Amino acid sequence: MKGVVVKSTGSWYIVRDAAGTLHRARLRGKFKLKGMKVSNPLAVGDKVEFDVETTGEDTAVIHKIEDRENYIIRQSTHKTAFSHIIAANLDQALLIVTLVSPRTSFGFIDRFLVTAEAYDIPTIIVYNKTDMYDDEMREYQRQISFMYEKIGYSSMAVSAHTNEGMEALTKTLDGKVTLLSGHSGVGKSTLINLIVPDLELKTSEISEFSDKGVHTTTFAEMFEVDPDTFIIDTPGIKELGIVDIPVAQLGHYFPEMRERMNQCRFNNCTHFNEPGCAVVEAVRTNDISLTRYESYLSMMHGGDNRK
Ligand code: GDP
Ligand code: ZN
Repeated sequence: MKGVVVKSTGSWYIVRDAAGTLHRARLRGKFKLKGMKVSNPLAVGDKVEFDVETTGEDTAVIHKIEDRENYIIRQSTHKTAFSHIIAANLDQALLIVTLVSPRTSFGFIDRFLVTAEAYDIPTIIVYNKTDMYDDEMREYQRQISFMYEKIGYSSMAVSAHTNEGMEALTKTLDGKVTLLSGHSGVGKSTLINLIVPDLELKTSEISEFSDKGVHTTTFAEMFEVDPDTFIIDTPGIKELGIVDIPVAQLGHYFPEMRERMNQCRFNNCTHFNEPGCAVVEAVRTNDISLTRYESYLSMMHGGDNRK
């Protein structure tokens, strides 16, 4: 049978077959990712082949993993430790942000976007809680959206409380596998509750399996919106671990820098203090936003701009 992993703990998995039935599964044999130590060979979103068995508490055995289109990992901060694959085969990510209560920093947004660029996952920025905006805030949100749209990230403004923009949001999910991300307090759970029909039922169905296993709250979960549409929630994951990007490469993950850097005088320009830097010149003429450039510098210097 073929199915998709909707929950992965590293030692056992929940697989959803084409008809929508969930199976608790184990992996047969050893699967390894080249050049990387991972704690879980299989992740949410992985497409697998499995056999159904009726002995023991596991009902399925996975014997094949299809090649991944993409995947994101959380890199361990400790060099010798294992990395964790968060999810695989994503079509897109929604980054939920708020301008008030709490306010998402540009540093946080830009770190996410760099990570998504590195993994080649298209990202849409979703501004939630628009019901709390006054006119000035609305104007501010439009300006920020414009700044990101100019460099290729589309955005939407929604309110989980008044349902403003929710129809458009649901449309962008249609037929896709979407990762939902955002720091705590932005309304991610509230939005997921609105988007996923019968969420409570689905959650309890999955936790029925989980009760037999280990504590699993920090693992990603995939929810069915309709038979072709899925969202992946990453509870407990505050921020995607940024991949280890060498300073010389970082500019490649800023689209507005990427398109200009071949005009820099030096081909190993780090766009910091080199003469003849096309990026710095574009910042000076406001063609690259200062906020984005500041995020670049902060990431380049390993600064903590998470706040
Ligand atoms: P999470 O930590 O991202 O999962 O955030 P929650 O979904 O738990 O929401 C955090 C708080 O924000 C809760 O008190 C929600 O009721 C509130 N909240 C969520 N969405 C909205 C919204 O659109 N407007 C307003 N005013 N509050 C919201
Ligand atoms: Zn440069």
